[in-house]
Amino acid sequence: MPPKHKNELYKESSRKKDVRTSNIEAAKAVADAVRTSLGPRGMDKMVAAANGEVIITNDGATILQKMTVTQPAAKMLVELSKSQDVVAGDGTTSVVVICGALLKKCQELLEKGVHPTIISDAFFKAANKACEILEGIAIPVNLEDREALLRAATTSLSSKVVSQYSSLLSPMAVDAVLKVMDPARPNLLDLRDIKVVSKVGGTIDDSEMVDGMVFDQKAAKSAGGPTRMEDAKVGLIQFQISPPKTDIENNVIVSDYNQMDRVYKEERNYILAVVKKIKASGCNVLLIQKSILRDAVTDLALHYLAKAKIMVVRDIERDEIELISKTLGCLPIAHVDNMKPEKLGSAALVEEVEVGKGRVVKITGIANKGRTATVLLRGSNKLVLEEADRSLHDALCVIRCLVNKRFLIAGGSSPEVQVSMQLGHWSKTLQGMESVCVRAFSEALEVVPYTLAENAGLNPINIVTELRRMHAAGEKYSGINVKKGTITNMLEENVVQPLLVTTSAITLATECVRMILKIDDIVPVR
Ligand code: ADP
Ligand code: MG
Repeated sequence: MPPKHKNELYKESSRKKDVRTSNIEAAKAVADAVRTSLGPRGMDKMVAAANGEVIITNDGATILQKMTVTQPAAKMLVELSKSQDVVAGDGTTSVVVICGALLKKCQELLEKGVHPTIISDAFFKAANKACEILEGIAIPVNLEDREALLRAATTSLSSKVVSQYSSLLSPMAVDAVLKVMDPARPNLLDLRDIKVVSKVGGTIDDSEMVDGMVFDQKAAKSAGGPTRMEDAKVGLIQFQISPPKTDIENNVIVSDYNQMDRVYKEERNYILAVVKKIKASGCNVLLIQKSILRDAVTDLALHYLAKAKIMVVRDIERDEIELISKTLGCLPIAHVDNMKPEKLGSAALVEEVEVGKGRVVKITGIANKGRTATVLLRGSNKLVLEEADRSLHDALCVIRCLVNKRFLIAGGSSPEVQVSMQLGHWSKTLQGMESVCVRAFSEALEVVPYTLAENAGLNPINIVTELRRMHAAGEKYSGINVKKGTITNMLEENVVQPLLVTTSAITLATECVRMILKIDDIVPVR
């Protein structure tokens, strides 16, 4: 029965088409949701969680991460933005916008009857070519050139809610990264060596870089212990100063006063012995790691520590230990028997100070301080402060990108227009469907200037046409000057961004599109 057979075949392929189409539609919807926040004139989003928590942000990765997305292909866009955040840190909106535009082109190509595999292969080639073109127009940057680094950090901050503070935050980002970078091994740069402490109170203008360390918690002073210590010997301990617990859950029943006394006495002796050993090592500031097994420090222990004039900072997080020991040059101590003077760090001053509405502990004058940096961010409220933190993160990442790959390109959509133009020329040298697909890819990149113009309230069609004309005339750094609403040379406007941000955005977006294209069915499993 040939007709039936034919019918079945047709049905199956239509289902595959449906799956593909619905995936593309869903992913495009996600891309459209963040489109309006691209660029310095882009809008911000207010993200409201079900529990009443509100955040205001312009960061693509953050918006998407908080968005409730259930469609599997749409989730891939969320992941895409996250990967851009990991690779480059900035460009998290751009990557999604580019991906959306590529998907739209895919849809058109699929409707024309081009096979998904052909599109996928052509896009892969086009993305590689695009990176080549970008490398061709990139400008080498020297890490000694502080001005250039500052310009890149400022561009990244210019699209943020806190952009008016970029003159303060950019130097902070540059200095922090250069401080933690080992000139001999710059590729080992780790942004976790930069500690950012946020404290509500004051304005962002009050933020500072601290030459030392800051802890977000107060000193423990319930027992009247010191809150200021000069000539400090700091011990970082991972053991608990509290009575040990038995391995298994069991109860001790105390039936008379004598026995109770003995229990107290035992506890007291145990703690006293620990405190004595600590004191004997010369330690006068104690940083105590949080413990899940038992109380890290009891009231009784605090009492004896206060008597011994030892300053105590408790609730140190496990993941902070590495940074602290690196900064202070001390070693974490896992058992009281290992309390040795050589394991302590020295600092001129450890002091609890008032910052805004709260208090922090500051350590300054650290002897042989490691390669770490601490930024104390201030803001008038939690919303601003959190966004400042995220924006600073982007600026730090921009500098890290420049350390890893020392090239800058102009911003303001000039690279996208340039790549689009050159890819267009290149597509003419290709044959058949490949040429059509590469052409489509090149057109998709124009979404960046289009969106930047749209968000700035300019006429996108006029702007894009004018940009094309300028680039065709050899003005390869022309871009959209969103402040003046015209087209100018972006290098002269000091709008520059790392090469890595744009190449990774194009590569990752293409990868994501290819993955979505290759999916022809969704298989639910239990
Ligand atoms: P992303 O999350 O992708 O970094 P942004 O909102 O930061 O998104 O916008 C980045 C885009 O804005 C880039 O294309 C960049 O070139 C452009 N841009 C940034 N600053 C300026 C500026 N001062 N003038 C014009 N374009 C700018
Ligand atoms: Mg940005």
